[in-house]
Amino acid sequence: MSHVFPRHTKANLPTAVSGEGCYIIDSNGKRYFDGSGGAAVSCLGHSDQTVRQAIKDQVDELAFAHSGFFTSDPAEKLADLLIAHAPEGIERVYFVSGGSEAVEAALKLARQYHLERGDDKRSHIIARWQSYHGNTLGALSAGGNRWRRKPFEPLLVPMTHIDPCYAYRYQAQGESLEDYAIRAADLLEAEILRVGPEKVAAFICEPVVGATMGAVTAEPGYLKRIRKICDQYGVLLILDEVMCGMGRTGSLFACDQDGVSPDILCIAKGLGAGYQPIGAMLCSGKVYKAIEDGSGFFQHGHTYMGHPVACAAGLAVITAMFERNLLGKVQKRSLQLMTALTSAFGQHPYIGDIRGRGLFIGLELVRDRESKHPFPSDLALHAKVKKIAFANGLICYPMSGTIDGQSGDHILLAPPFIIEEEHIGEIVDKLAKTFAMIPE
Ligand code: PMP
Repeated sequence: MSHVFPRHTKANLPTAVSGEGCYIIDSNGKRYFDGSGGAAVSCLGHSDQTVRQAIKDQVDELAFAHSGFFTSDPAEKLADLLIAHAPEGIERVYFVSGGSEAVEAALKLARQYHLERGDDKRSHIIARWQSYHGNTLGALSAGGNRWRRKPFEPLLVPMTHIDPCYAYRYQAQGESLEDYAIRAADLLEAEILRVGPEKVAAFICEPVVGATMGAVTAEPGYLKRIRKICDQYGVLLILDEVMCGMGRTGSLFACDQDGVSPDILCIAKGLGAGYQPIGAMLCSGKVYKAIEDGSGFFQHGHTYMGHPVACAAGLAVITAMFERNLLGKVQKRSLQLMTALTSAFGQHPYIGDIRGRGLFIGLELVRDRESKHPFPSDLALHAKVKKIAFANGLICYPMSGTIDGQSGDHILLAPPFIIEEEHIGEIVDKLAKTFAMIPE
């Protein structure tokens, strides 16, 4: 009997024993193509020589020094590199061990920012439905996935949510996407006014919604309008790029493509590329200065923040991305993968939409591709697709509740940035085989 506590107690998972490029190999020697990079994590594949060496070197040099006593070379260098490429105004990096921790730190920093400026009323956070920000109670309170929230209600931190609106972009029919984006963003203004602007600390959203909606990008103009509304009411803008950041969409940060700089930015997943658990919360000079000029102490922290080995891995990952022009490669492979998927599945009866940015692609599963109607939740396809694809040696990331937290489902593809053209053929062939095995 296994003593590991799995997420699905009835799941009988194979044992992963090694990694080779884009593949994971189990104890029976079966090879799985990692079409989702786990959950948009493994951007450099599973056996990157330079990252492995950087980790070994750092363990030999110094494994751990508590951040309350020391900074370290890898932490300093990684922070320098991130800031050199960060959106305008972002000046500081706060290291943590993963995405939920980055979001927790962001929510707390936003509240403390207002307090430091003598404003003790701004504690309210506004987020969006159909979002995911992590599983710790604070991050879960921000998240808008009703199914994940339900067992833990009432959640600890009172927050309110607005409709992401463009979640199901079919709603935009008959309206220009620009008008639609403005209408969607204006929901934030309405919510700020409803709560009372003097009470709102921050608004948090994912620039490209990952797990819950399957790579749904903001329509052009949406985030710019959101930025403007936040500025108008003194509300901080937190962008959660835990899934869509670190090159996944073809630029280091997803918001680079929207021309928007947040006050606080959360990253994780691809930062350690699966080699080490690491995340970070980046903040603007303005936000940092409020703490520096105020109490001088951010009331938050974790034992493993700024872990030297995790930072050495992050440094090696980003260095590799630039040295090997992997962002350019993401853009090129994205076009090829999109074209291949569209030609194979563009008319497939069960696939209503193929969307995304970079190597972050969602396939919306529908019962009727004409009306775009989803399957009823008890007949949703995502779990079947995941299971059959897995049996066929392809890992893809499934999720339900795309439309309103209940109905709608999709699968997410987020392969390593190192995929070659032949891998694109393999993804499409294995998916085609998978859909052919799904009963009508
Ligand atoms: N934010 C987003 C957008 C995510 O996709 C995730 C993880 N899927 C998280 C936060 C939480 O990250 P972690 O699982 O590393 O805590």
